[in-house]
Amino acid sequence: MSAYVIDGKAIAAELGGRIAGAVERLRTEHGITPHLAVVLVGHDPASETYVRNKTAKTAAAGMRTSLHRLSETVAESDLVALVTQLNADPDIHGVLVQLPLPPQIDARNVVAAIAPAKDVDGCHPLSAGLLATGMPGIRPCTPLACIRLAKTVHASLVGIEAVIIGRSNLVGKPLAHLLLAEDATVTVAHSKTHDLAAVARRADLLFVAVGRAALVTRDFVKPGATVIDVGISRIAAEGGRTRLAGDVAFAQVQDIAGAITPVPGGVGPMTIACLMLNTVRATCTAAGLSAPEI
Ligand code: NAD
Repeated sequence: MSAYVIDGKAIAAELGGRIAGAVERLRTEHGITPHLAVVLVGHDPASETYVRNKTAKTAAAGMRTSLHRLSETVAESDLVALVTQLNADPDIHGVLVQLPLPPQIDARNVVAAIAPAKDVDGCHPLSAGLLATGMPGIRPCTPLACIRLAKTVHASLVGIEAVIIGRSNLVGKPLAHLLLAEDATVTVAHSKTHDLAAVARRADLLFVAVGRAALVTRDFVKPGATVIDVGISRIAAEGGRTRLAGDVAFAQVQDIAGAITPVPGGVGPMTIACLMLNTVRATCTAAGLSAPEI
């Protein structure tokens, strides 16, 4: 048996088309164009690529984007000052600071400086608290993407046995809350978990967000399970080149899983689509409009 490959790129493109429709309606019916401001510090190659993809896709959906670049050596206070300025600009609906940040800056202070109403990445402590307490708010993009991809296979997640490997504030923890909100049965495993493979094998729905290529081998996977791979690592490939790899040993796990996301082309494109969705929702909230169901 070979697992069904969940085509995140195609699913994200379809969602992007519906978002573009909502953007067009906002423009024609209300004269509003959502505007996403992205802040990039330094020249980390991976961050450059992520930011390029985010701004290109957002612009392709008819939204405005602005890129604010700061030098690698910028002081935390200057970065916070820029965020404060973007917060105060009524023309901007979403503010995203691309992580990671250089060592002289505490990313937590910067994320906390973003106005919660413009926190389209969903990482502000208030957004995290609203999620944890089940109150309405902006949800983090990657966990949202994971849920949407899982739902292309499982129409309902009620009661499903879900295991998440990884407990970061960015992915693992918010994903656990989103799954609980779907009434799934949730286990969060991490670097200190005993017999990780046995815990993972409990899952009908396995999410992996670690950042270690090929951590998850076939002995981690219950036959027929759905596997959502969040991890992104750059590894050596033939001819001295490098390539992107997920946390899941794709070829061997594909033989045992029921469905699986590829890397690249799985969670990544869907994360960008969810960022666009959050930007449209934040724009609607700022304008006192109800957000469209997309
Ligand atoms: P992180 O480093 O903050 O967290 C990693 C987690 O993995 C930790 O909770 C840690 O306990 C756990 N872990 C580490 N080693 C482990 C091991 N040997 N066994 C079990 N658990 C272990 O990382 P993050 O920000 O959550 O990102 C995780 C991965 O997801 C990275 O590769 C990152 O690049 C990727 N990512 C992808 C997207 C996307 O859009 N596709 C978005 C965010 C993050």
